[in-house]
Amino acid sequence: MTETITNWAGNITYTAKELHRPYSLDAIRALVAGSERVRVLGSGHSFNGIAEPGPEGVLLSIAGLPPVIDVDRTARTVRVSGGVRYAELARAVDAHGLALPNMASLPHISVAGSVATGTHGSGVGNGALATSVREVELVTGDGSVVVVGRDDERFGGAVTSLGALGVVTALTLDLEPSFDVEQHLFTELPLDGLDFAAFETVMASAYSVSLFTDWRAPGFRQVWLKRRTDQPSADFPWAAPATEKLHPVPGMPAVNCTEQFGVPGPWHQRLPHFRAEFTPSSGAELQSEYLLPRRYAVDALHAVDGIRQTVASVLQTCEVRTVAADEQWLSPSYGRDTVALHFTWIEDTAAVLPVVRRLESALDAFEPRPHWGKVFAVPAEVLRGRYPRLADFRALARELDPGRKFANAFVQGILGA
Ligand SMILES: Cc1cc2nc3c(=O)[nH]c(=O)nc-3n(C[C@H](O)[C@H](O)[C@H](O)COP(=O)(O)OP(=O)(O)OC[C@H]3O[C@@H](n4cnc5c(N)ncnc54)[C@H](O)[C@@H]3O)c2cc1C
Repeated sequence: MTETITNWAGNITYTAKELHRPYSLDAIRALVAGSERVRVLGSGHSFNGIAEPGPEGVLLSIAGLPPVIDVDRTARTVRVSGGVRYAELARAVDAHGLALPNMASLPHISVAGSVATGTHGSGVGNGALATSVREVELVTGDGSVVVVGRDDERFGGAVTSLGALGVVTALTLDLEPSFDVEQHLFTELPLDGLDFAAFETVMASAYSVSLFTDWRAPGFRQVWLKRRTDQPSADFPWAAPATEKLHPVPGMPAVNCTEQFGVPGPWHQRLPHFRAEFTPSSGAELQSEYLLPRRYAVDALHAVDGIRQTVASVLQTCEVRTVAADEQWLSPSYGRDTVALHFTWIEDTAAVLPVVRRLESALDAFEPRPHWGKVFAVPAEVLRGRYPRLADFRALARELDPGRKFANAFVQGILGA
């Protein structure tokens, strides 16, 4: 490639021999049919080699496709092209008085790339973003267009697919009536004395709840509650209300963060932590995240607390969220109500990796599934044992991509032989 293309964080430089930005569906079909190895690059917000096609492959961006956002008010659905980002989608959907049930912390990520990796927000009753998808349109290896909907037995593999089945050109998502959210922040929630019942109560005390800590001291520095104004709200006696606006990374200015202090606003301006109109940060960070069965939440938090100083040495912030169980075969939340332990590290890979390994061994007993888009070191053969429907996914990949055109080193490792 003549251009140097990196991911958002800058820790991955793609080695593909060519980068293509086709402007039409027909151009995508012809390009895929005529290429030996292809990976699609979404908005590049993953932190590992998941999108990397390798030096012999083609990196394909569909960001140049004319954006489609077709809202069907009667059916309460939206058909959206894969390269569209959540911020743009959310504004369009909200203009029709409709809403997505949840969003990730950042609205700048592409829809297809997010659901491909199991991206999620928080909320004990909220599934990962892929659970809103009802239909996927793919260009498969021979250039044909395949549509897989919820009533298709292949659907369980089709959405959180790691980009291994083809180019997702469009998705249809479920919507619901628009709603308003208030964001209330609290400070200093102790971990000591927080048993599982209390943890569940804290995490269920609003539509979406996040706990933040820097692990420099035990417990949580911040609690973010996102309350829907159309649902009853409970008191929150567990921590003191914040007295100033906060950023999840202690000491960073809160100006880029979504409105706090309980000011009601539309769902898409409160569910993400960061405002759509600001670039959230320079990308000077790495991220890891481990999704575990929720019943292990308190034990897992104590395990992290046990290596608190090691973790804190390279940590910017740690966020604890919940995700409802889903049925996507490769979803990190597949089949289990989940607690997600997220770590925003400093951008120094050499310093971060040993801590990632240490953290993974501390969490190993809790069957963690790493976020597919973040930094992890868990060996592929271990991961294979944590996905009971992997064989079904492998069969689907063989059916839709018999030539393994969309299987890079990352995917090949996960799928195995
Ligand atoms: C600041 C920041 C905040 C984040 N917050 C969250 C969060 O709150 N929750 C969370 O769960 N994650 C979060 N993430 C992780 C992020 O959501 C995932 O890495 C997600 O995959 C990013 O989407 P993307 O379009 O940038 O994907 P990319 O990194 O571009 O690609 C990811 C995968 O999707 C595939 N892909 C992309 N587009 C297509 C397509 N059209 N067809 C086929 N395959 C495709 C790629 O080939 C690759 O395998 C965050 C990341 C950052 C940088």
